[in-house]
Amino acid sequence: MTLANCPRCGALFNKITMDCCKQCYEEEEKLLRKTQEYLRKNRVAPMFEVIDAIGVEEWMIEKWVDEKRITLHDPTVQSTVHYCSSCGRETKPGETLCKTCQFKLLSTKKKNSSEQEEDPKTAKRDRSGGMHFKRS
Ligand SMILES: [Zn+2]
Ligand SMILES: [Zn+2]
Repeated sequence: MTLANCPRCGALFNKITMDCCKQCYEEEEKLLRKTQEYLRKNRVAPMFEVIDAIGVEEWMIEKWVDEKRITLHDPTVQSTVHYCSSCGRETKPGETLCKTCQFKLLSTKKKNSSEQEEDPKTAKRDRSGGMHFKRS
């Protein structure tokens, strides 16, 4: 039995089984469950919001994230997450279109460019041709 003072409340506890006293541990577990519950409902809640809502401390959240007991929405990650401007799917950083839409765009571009090659002539002909009559 290795006794140590709880880093949080100073109470003696058995250091082998836990890294703080039982009371603080239970308190932490309670907060963890609350945090997990909160994050289930608010997936994109930033850390400060969780801290505010649960009354949990920042270091606890950081610890849980480290221990992979919670996954916190990281605002620095968010800024690099892009959504496809065409279909709204998540895309890689720096890409405004997802792979599918990029491919679609590429194939329509190809199609368009081959059409466009004829376009100027058609346009010229149209202009020089003067009036057009709708065939009815
Ligand atoms: Zn304690
Ligand atoms: Zn897309």
